[in-house]
Amino acid sequence: MNSICIFCGSSKGNKAAYIEAAVHLGKTLAKRNIKIVYGAGNVGLMGEIADAALAENGYVIGVIPEFLKGWEVCHDGLSELTVTETMHQRKQLMSEISDGFIALPGGFGTLDELFEILTWKQLQLHQKPIGLLNVNGYYDHAIAHIKQMVAEGFLKEANLDLLIIENDLEALLEKMNSFPVRETEGKWIT
Ligand code: AMP
Repeated sequence: MNSICIFCGSSKGNKAAYIEAAVHLGKTLAKRNIKIVYGAGNVGLMGEIADAALAENGYVIGVIPEFLKGWEVCHDGLSELTVTETMHQRKQLMSEISDGFIALPGGFGTLDELFEILTWKQLQLHQKPIGLLNVNGYYDHAIAHIKQMVAEGFLKEANLDLLIIENDLEALLEKMNSFPVRETEGKWIT
């Protein structure tokens, strides 16, 4: 993977572990010469990742819609910045220029981005690896709910592995790198 898109909180959360994980991710990708694609924010875990990667001479590409740029939450020191008209254009571009996706802890925006890119994969619109870094067990409830979706007949068990879940970044990157490109199961349970 030459570039990875990161979805994460525009807040920092209330535990040091979240900031530490964001900084570690930024540094690690920079050291591995993997370009970071993200939402261009200078706030929360988003800002932590960008700053950590840039401090290691990493390459960070921000993609932000015009209205958010106006809120002055846009990082002004990125390697590249693209301003889109809409949120949808932003997501489309971020997905096109990235070879894989990683979600860190975050709120509605992070979950929206993660589940949209998972949905696109389930619908076979792309075959790129999608990782969830479960820092400090933050996503334990979401993971339990995803299993509930299988138990209740709304998600195919075979499609569970569309999402690669790890607590450890190095293990996650390893699995994403070796993720087999395969046709996903048809989405529908009939
Ligand atoms: P949230 O998890 O709700 O904090 O939202 C984070 C995600 O939504 C990020 O991955 C961004 O793509 C987008 N987002 C939310 N807030 C901002 C912001 N202030 N600046 C840039 N992007 C943001």
